[in-house]
This record gives sequence, C-alpha cells and structure tokens, in this order.
Amino acid sequence: MRILLVEDEQGVANFIKKGLEEERYTVDLVTDGQAGLEHGLTGQYDLLILDLMLPKKSGFEVAKGLRDTGIQTPILMLTAKISVQDKVKGLDVGADDYLTKPFSFEEFLARVRALLRRKQTEMIKLEVGDLEVNTLSHRVFLDGKELVLRPKEYAILEYLVRAKDCVVSRTQILENVWGYDFDPTTNVVDVHIKSIRKKLEELTPKEYISTVRGVGYMVTTTPK
Ligand code: CA
Repeated sequence: MRILLVEDEQGVANFIKKGLEEERYTVDLVTDGQAGLEHGLTGQYDLLILDLMLPKKSGFEVAKGLRDTGIQTPILMLTAKISVQDKVKGLDVGADDYLTKPFSFEEFLARVRALLRRKQTEMIKLEVGDLEVNTLSHRVFLDGKELVLRPKEYAILEYLVRAKDCVVSRTQILENVWGYDFDPTTNVVDVHIKSIRKKLEELTPKEYISTVRGVGYMVTTTPK
C-alpha cells in the first residue's frame, strides 16, 4: 500500500509519516499543493492524505484537479479547523473523508484503513462491457447471467480482463496461469480460449476476446 502525504507543517508531516511507516505503509511526502497534484496525477497511490491549507495550491484545488482528470484515489483531508461550508465544498470536489487537527493517531489509522478497504472492495469487481469478473468468488457474469468456467479458463479470462485493451501473448498467459514450468510447444492456451469463446457465444453475439495474429489475445472494453 503506497500513500501520498501532502502536508507543509513539518512536525505533523513527520509524525504521520513515521507512524504510517511503522504500520508498514510506504509513504511519499510532498510539502506543497502543486507537488501534491503532480504526484497524485501519476495514479500510483492507494490513498492521498491531503492537508487543506497548503502553499501554491490548496487541498481543495488538488482534490478537484485530480477528480477532473479521472483520478479516483481515495482522499483523506486534514484540516486545522473546518466549517460546515468547507466540509461541503471538500466533499463536492472529491474528498472521501475528513479529520480535524489535532487528532489521535488511532483515529487517523482507523480512517486510513477504512478508505483502503473501500478501495480494495472496488477492485474485487472487474468490468469490461457487460462482462463482470468477481476476483473474490472467481465467478463471471455476463449481463447478469453466469458464465460457468473451469478454473484455468477463469484464470485466463481474469488475466485478460486485467490487461484489458492490451494484447497478451500466449507465453504471458502460460506464465501467469500455468506458472513457468510449461511446455513451450503446447497449444493449451488456444484450446482454453476456444472453450471460453464458445461459452461466451452462448450468452452474447459480441466478441469479447479478439485474436491478434502472430501476437496473442486481447479483451476489449468495446466489444462488437
Ligand atoms: Ca497546512
């Protein structure tokens, strides 16, 4: 879990960073709103802890800038003192939770955990068009109807859906689904893909898995 901390008060920043690192989170610290926005825009964080009053850009501007470009990283906003209007404004621009300074580290950690859990729950369901893959129950639904797959078929489809809109090679599929100990001359991937396609065809005329000649397979977000 990687956390971006945007906080200009050195004492508070060090206290939070040290505490989170003791809990085994990875923490990157930046001390102004501009840097916060730039780091946040990389999309590589699981959570943002964002102070409201910051040099260069306020916490509001950072949150809004991220949401406007489609970055959905959960945001926990930290404020010295907050009015109801500020709270509403913060929620409107995309903050997920608030904490007023000074706060106890226990409460802070509880909120961090809650926001990270929420993110994990969202990751359980992967969606491509009308296809929904539940990575917890390992079940797949197409427009609400279940696609009954064998374990290896499921693993291939989940791998393709995770890589959606990118071509994956037979070798990549073999490595990820069967592990490294496979016979490179095998046609087992093609056989399984054929079977998944057949099952999909019973439920939809759309082609979710396309063949990219000489390269491999791809699941597309806009099946035709
Ligand atoms: Ca501040």
